[in-house]
Amino acid sequence: MSDPNAGYDVVILGGGSGGYASAFRAAELGMSVALVEKDKVGGTCLHRGCIPTKALLHAGEVADTARDSEDFGILAEFKGVDIEAVNKYKDGVVAKMYKGLQGLFKANKVEVINGTGKLVGPNTIEVDNGQTVTGRNIVLATGSYSKTLPGLEIDGERIITSEHALNLTELPNKAIVIGGGVIGAEFASAWKSLGVEVEIIEGLPRLIAAEDADSSKQLERAFRKRGIKFHTGKFFEKVERTASGVQVTIQGGTVVDGDLVLVAVGRGPVTDGCGYAEQGVQMDRGFVLTNEHLQTNLPNVYAVGDIVPGVQLAHRGFLQGIFVAEHIAGLNPPVIDEAGIPRVTFTEPEVASMGLNEDKAKERYGADKIKTVNYNLAGNGKSNILKTQGFVKLVAVEDGPIVGVHMVGARISEQIGEAELIYNWEGYASDVAQLIHMHPTQNEAIGEAAMALAGKPLHVHD
Ligand SMILES: Cc1cc2nc3c(=O)[nH]c(=O)nc-3n(C[C@H](O)[C@H](O)[C@H](O)COP(=O)(O)OP(=O)(O)OC[C@H]3O[C@@H](n4cnc5c(N)ncnc54)[C@H](O)[C@@H]3O)c2cc1C
Repeated sequence: MSDPNAGYDVVILGGGSGGYASAFRAAELGMSVALVEKDKVGGTCLHRGCIPTKALLHAGEVADTARDSEDFGILAEFKGVDIEAVNKYKDGVVAKMYKGLQGLFKANKVEVINGTGKLVGPNTIEVDNGQTVTGRNIVLATGSYSKTLPGLEIDGERIITSEHALNLTELPNKAIVIGGGVIGAEFASAWKSLGVEVEIIEGLPRLIAAEDADSSKQLERAFRKRGIKFHTGKFFEKVERTASGVQVTIQGGTVVDGDLVLVAVGRGPVTDGCGYAEQGVQMDRGFVLTNEHLQTNLPNVYAVGDIVPGVQLAHRGFLQGIFVAEHIAGLNPPVIDEAGIPRVTFTEPEVASMGLNEDKAKERYGADKIKTVNYNLAGNGKSNILKTQGFVKLVAVEDGPIVGVHMVGARISEQIGEAELIYNWEGYASDVAQLIHMHPTQNEAIGEAAMALAGKPLHVHD
């Protein structure tokens, strides 16, 4: 049984997206909250993930805009990349947001305890600064780390992870990216824009393999056009350091030389040494198992974020953190539908999706019950103005709701909001088709796709 005399209402281990969202919501709901963090609040997303990578990608976009300016009749000159200045810009964005976040901790009166914590009882976290913190409820939110594979020993110099890749003081001439998932594809895209030659090696049959097959195909086409090389369906065999860089041998014998290798083969849960297993928390391959209310098998011990199996995204952590605080407060929040969490790969072009991809929808509802429409951005005015190519694909159940939205195109991530509402509110194509969309925007492409699916297409070219 949990100890009713425990100190705080909620004690949170880890101050990343999941942990701090839980802390703020619990505090808003009038609970006393302590959060134990060994590094900086904000975690991976703010310091080593979402924010700095998107700043790097934006710097790349500016470089591409300068290079391509003549296509728009503007005579700008691309003179090169000052990586020190790019890093200063990126770090400046992070620093500003970090300051803002620290302010929110103060405003919410969440007590931050600096140190490495360990679960030593169902109500107790022991911190390496000597403090023992007790709470009526505990939230585990220790996040994730960059994984590697046997034969890929990270040296931080030639064989690196995303953390190192964000802090390069010199850009390589040629980078080899092992792993063509979201993180690998985003670095490949940013680096190419910044003038680096890039070659991706992906073991699965396609890049960003968790996405709809059409999205992968469109991204691959765009990458080919941009000169980003990739090998799919091929694992690396060995990686060797050479006098001037690295040499990667791919299955089948192809050898690729480069200045460095970025290892982007996924992220593992940070749970070793945290005391979870020792305290009897049910785990699976290092991940913490929970029920649909994000409760572990120990009473009053919850888990959120990347340590819980599922998509590893910051806003999933926010949502889970908020959910847990509300559950503790007895507000009975609705159970989270993982497919209702938006996903974006911020490459050029961007790939955004909601709900089920076509294959998964067919598995769930039967192939003959699924209807799809693939609206080509060639028919969309704003996309033509931007000179971007791509599509909006809707996956719907016959005489039923739209269960998947898949989009590719420059800036298309900004359209994810409507896709999210359509999916989560179980919108039918006819519901969306009757809402007119602002002209000329890329948002119209969602409306056009819905109109086509509802049998009344407007600007559709065969
Ligand atoms: C390169 C990259 C790009 C990404 N881009 C995006 C993106 O664009 N959009 C998106 O949604 N997601 C993105 N992500 C994923 C996102 O960063 C994670 O999903 C998110 O940070 C997970 O939040 P979390 O709270 O579970 O863990 P984390 O953010 O990892 O936070 C965990 C915290 O716990 C602390 N901690 C760990 N162990 C202990 C301990 N024993 N004691 C005390 N403190 C401890 C850590 O120091 C850390 O601060 C990206 C990730 C990477 C690596």
